[in-house]
Amino acid sequence: MDKSGMFEILEEDAHSGARTGILHTAHGPVETPVFMPVGTQASVKAMSPAELESLDVSILLGNTYHLNLRPGMDVIEACGGLHAFMGWSRPILTDSGGFQVFSLAGLRKIRDDGVEFNSHIDGSRVFLGPVEAMRIQRILGSDIAMVFDECPPHECTRDYACQSMEKSIAWAAECSGQPRAPGQLVFGIVQGGAFDDLRRRCARELVGIGFDGYAVGGVSVGEPEDVLRRGMEQGVAELPRERPRYLMGVGRMSQILEAVALGIDMFDCVMPTRYARNGSAFTRWGVYPVKAGGCRLDTRPVEEGCGCYTCTHFSRAYVRHLLNVGEILGLRLLTVHNLYRYMGFMAEIREAVRGGFFRAYRDEFAARQQAGDK
Ligand SMILES: [Zn+2]
Repeated sequence: MDKSGMFEILEEDAHSGARTGILHTAHGPVETPVFMPVGTQASVKAMSPAELESLDVSILLGNTYHLNLRPGMDVIEACGGLHAFMGWSRPILTDSGGFQVFSLAGLRKIRDDGVEFNSHIDGSRVFLGPVEAMRIQRILGSDIAMVFDECPPHECTRDYACQSMEKSIAWAAECSGQPRAPGQLVFGIVQGGAFDDLRRRCARELVGIGFDGYAVGGVSVGEPEDVLRRGMEQGVAELPRERPRYLMGVGRMSQILEAVALGIDMFDCVMPTRYARNGSAFTRWGVYPVKAGGCRLDTRPVEEGCGCYTCTHFSRAYVRHLLNVGEILGLRLLTVHNLYRYMGFMAEIREAVRGGFFRAYRDEFAARQQAGDK
């Protein structure tokens, strides 16, 4: 039986909204809750697909805005789609470019059918709307395509948030009617800024259109933590239990735990890879700069007790040395460790929900982060 698009909920936590499940996609199953490393330019920075597989990465995120500008859809089409182009055979989710258009591109002109903007690379005029975003994602051949939406700034007025949300809903409806790649799923995105009623209304209207999954978007755009949390709560409250839920761009481990407790299944964030390139390591106790002078003579691994390739072969002193002299291997080793930590973290969460001890796991996590040892 072709299970593509099916979302099986396996266990539900008795004390929170947390659940484990399997999302079946055209390129295989994804166990949830899941973290998706970001491969903006058809590459998770510094990692080969073989390394990602060995780290148990089950799904990656690719980027419509960036891939459309470079290398361009003619190249990706000629190479047989994004999976073949980048040599990755597991699932891929592509974002629609909305977030980048509103955060990166210059001189935007918002029209009813999309957005005209200047490319951040060469300033050339580009147009992206629901029809274009879905066409690009169809050529990319992603397993999950996101609708094209407007991502308003977090400090916008209620009027602006409302108009923007209405436009996003109209665009979502248009996206849902566009042709898709074989087996491609399409997720709607709940917007509505910091306004509870708008978030709820947006979620209800998207559910009315009917999507394969739902994302909470327009979060982690510089707003305070409590606003982020309310945005999640309001969005999730109106979403159907039986479809996967994705919190876009939120990746601090404490935030992921909170969101899982609210019933979120999917996450993406540049944090583990970006922090690695800045010389910082995530551990069970938090995050610390391996690059700092304190690690000069430290013969311990990056994280004590970690089973990753980096920690089982090298000392902090060595990794710090590589980072300080600008050797590429340094940021590769730290990226391996950080992704291993994130994948391990998600596996622990799934295990805790499965075993019925998610609440205890959360308490233990909070206590550990407070202790802050390295
Ligand atoms: Zn490690």
